[in-house]
Amino acid sequence: MRNTQPSFSCEFFPPKSEEGAARLRATWQALKAMQPSYFSVTFGAGGSTQERTFTTVAEIQRDSGIEAAPHLSCIGSTRAQIRAILEDYKAQGIRRIVALRGDLPSGMRDPGELRYANELVEFIREVTGDWFHIEVAAYPEIHPQAPSAKADLENFARKVRAGADAAITQYFYNVDAYFRFMDDCERMGLDIPVIPGIMPITNYTQLARFSDACGAEIPRWLRKRLEGFGDDAESIRAYGLDVVGEMCEDLLAGGAPGLHFYTMNQVEPSLSLWQRVAHTRPDMEL
Ligand code: FAD
Repeated sequence: MRNTQPSFSCEFFPPKSEEGAARLRATWQALKAMQPSYFSVTFGAGGSTQERTFTTVAEIQRDSGIEAAPHLSCIGSTRAQIRAILEDYKAQGIRRIVALRGDLPSGMRDPGELRYANELVEFIREVTGDWFHIEVAAYPEIHPQAPSAKADLENFARKVRAGADAAITQYFYNVDAYFRFMDDCERMGLDIPVIPGIMPITNYTQLARFSDACGAEIPRWLRKRLEGFGDDAESIRAYGLDVVGEMCEDLLAGGAPGLHFYTMNQVEPSLSLWQRVAHTRPDMEL
């Protein structure tokens, strides 16, 4: 059992419009209640949405009082492009980056100069030394393109050895997958913190679509229960809060160092989970 306080963080995607930006501002203001270590902002590989990541990160870093952590994916980019982004973030005083390979948008063929996340981590260390705290992605249920669980774990080890400080997992609903992954890491001598990524359940159709794409498994019993609620959004949310809340409690009780919430730019689902966890822990202040 760990005996330090768990850390919490929240992930946002860059808004598409001015109204979305205003809504996101209200979202991060409300989510400051969980005293997060940082707010992260996703980044689309090789796309026109990148500019929105930059403006969202700058605003959070400047106005929120919480550290902003941009995601940075390397696929489809040149070293010179990545270097320019890193220098810009450094100039803004940003100290934390989530380093990813990303996925090429359909129609884009050229993988660019850095093909995998371990090469990106290496490059960040080469260009900026220890300036950034680097988080990488981890896959307790195995990345969908990995030829085997062993190959995926070896890839994770490459990212750690290249200089990653911590990892955030893809979301999952099988707690055992996380603890098994941690056992594997321990056996390989990989001792960086691995923070479970938590996806609140609010909309079953959307969740099923996402999960198919990213290789996260929704266990049969959970799928069946959620399908059984049909269009009853309120029951889906209530059941989701119960199931995911219990999972968060089990993860922290079993030694997970914190939780990273995939907020989908919404306040209520992540805040309710955090409140539920905080109520069960004497070491956390509400
Ligand atoms: P990698 O670690 O490079 O692994 C990708 C695949 O390649 C794996 O199957 C791995 O086993 C394999 N592999 C790695 N190295 C080698 C090698 N040398 N030879 C052969 N195979 C190898 N996507 C975005 O576009 N934007 C985001 O902001 C974003 N944020 C994310 C945040 C988190 C916490 C997570 C978990 C995922 C995020 N993603 C994001 C999705 C991510 O980009 C995809 O899952 C992507 O397919 C893999 O990225 P990675 O960094 O894990 O890649």
